[in-house]
Amino acid sequence: MDFAFDPAEEAFRDEVRAFLDEQLGEHVDRHDPQLMTRWLRAVREKRWVGFSWPTEYGGGGGSLAQQVILKEEMARARAPMLGTCFMGLQWVGPAILAYGTEAQKRELLPDILDGTYQWCTGFSEPGVGSDLAALQCRAVRDGVDYVVSGQKIWTSIAQASRKIILLVRTSWDPANKHDGITCLLADMDSPGVSVRPIENMAGYAMFCEVFFDDVRVPVASRLGEEGQGWRVTITSLANERSGIAEVTGMQRKLADLRDLARRVERGGRTASEDPAVRRRLGRFEARVEAMRLNGLRYLTRQLRGEPLGSETSVNKLHKAQLEVEMAEFALELEGPASVLMKGAPGALDDGRWQHDALSWPETVIGGGTPNIQRNIIAERILGLPKD
Ligand SMILES: Cc1cc2nc3c(=O)[nH]c(=O)nc-3n(C[C@H](O)[C@H](O)[C@H](O)COP(=O)(O)OP(=O)(O)OC[C@H]3O[C@@H](n4cnc5c(N)ncnc54)[C@H](O)[C@@H]3O)c2cc1C
Repeated sequence: MDFAFDPAEEAFRDEVRAFLDEQLGEHVDRHDPQLMTRWLRAVREKRWVGFSWPTEYGGGGGSLAQQVILKEEMARARAPMLGTCFMGLQWVGPAILAYGTEAQKRELLPDILDGTYQWCTGFSEPGVGSDLAALQCRAVRDGVDYVVSGQKIWTSIAQASRKIILLVRTSWDPANKHDGITCLLADMDSPGVSVRPIENMAGYAMFCEVFFDDVRVPVASRLGEEGQGWRVTITSLANERSGIAEVTGMQRKLADLRDLARRVERGGRTASEDPAVRRRLGRFEARVEAMRLNGLRYLTRQLRGEPLGSETSVNKLHKAQLEVEMAEFALELEGPASVLMKGAPGALDDGRWQHDALSWPETVIGGGTPNIQRNIIAERILGLPKD
């Protein structure tokens, strides 16, 4: 594992800093809606969206090391996201790059980079989450189409998506549930697809139930071979977990937490002067740093051309625990104001810590629960016996 970047990579860091200073200098209002439009256009022109994707599909052709630098500098500058199609950029696109046909790459990747529409992920089903290989949503071949019937659940932003990366069962072998799963890239406006949003405890519907009633999906929209969907899923989940586990967002969150500690009072002085608060912040810092170093370990593996796999579970697990603890600590620091939600007069930081505290299932459960990450770490990394 190598912790240092070479001179050319550091020169790239300088270039990124200069661009970010120019676009997002200290005095630029991060809440200005026009800023987002300007920013998205500028970063697309610079080919920073899909920065490490091949140039022939509209990506930046950048190295993975440069991508890490870009993300580090963006976190430092509190830059908005690169692109608007989160799932497309994070795991659907990488899965298409790995398993897609040339036609699929040319048709679908530029739209992901441009954020033309949203993608959603149809993996989980009622009663089938952790044990994903037990999925039941069926697809039967009929000429040039598959006919899909069944149900998905917890499908994030399905109500706002035009496309879905969908796992279906094309055959069933009880001795090996993983065989017989196929991955399809389907249109959400196909006849027979219906979406029912589910409201969560933070008061908004971020995920949905999705029903498939004899939905025809062209065989040409299959990603990878029939029955090889599990391999595609492993790629998607590793990218999802490494994305969820990204450390740059945690570094920014920690900076915000420190800033909060400097603004609120505790026992007649600012909270940041309280040794107990400083100790807690120090512990968070050490854990975030451990995540950063672990992230560099993934990077080193990828630079050697090795695929991401089980090790992404380590940071996924870390992040889930840290996010919850940091949000709860922020509420502790806020004191009585911690009950005030977004929009309420007197809410600190516009209720963002309350939102984080209530939205914990997103990072804790989405992409696989902590127990499942622990099982993966125990069995596949530490070589312990299966549970
Ligand atoms: C905010 C959010 C967004 C999501 N978005 C999507 C999405 O876009 N697309 C999608 O397909 N899914 C999505 N999911 C679903 C998510 O992937 C599943 O909820 C998750 O995999 C857990 O599955 P489950 O809900 O069926 O729980 P279960 O698998 O039933 O687990 C229940 C409990 O049992 C434990 N458990 C289960 N098996 C084991 C085991 N072998 N060993 C030890 N403990 C075990 C789990 O850790 C958990 O605590 C989302 C979930 C959330 C919360």
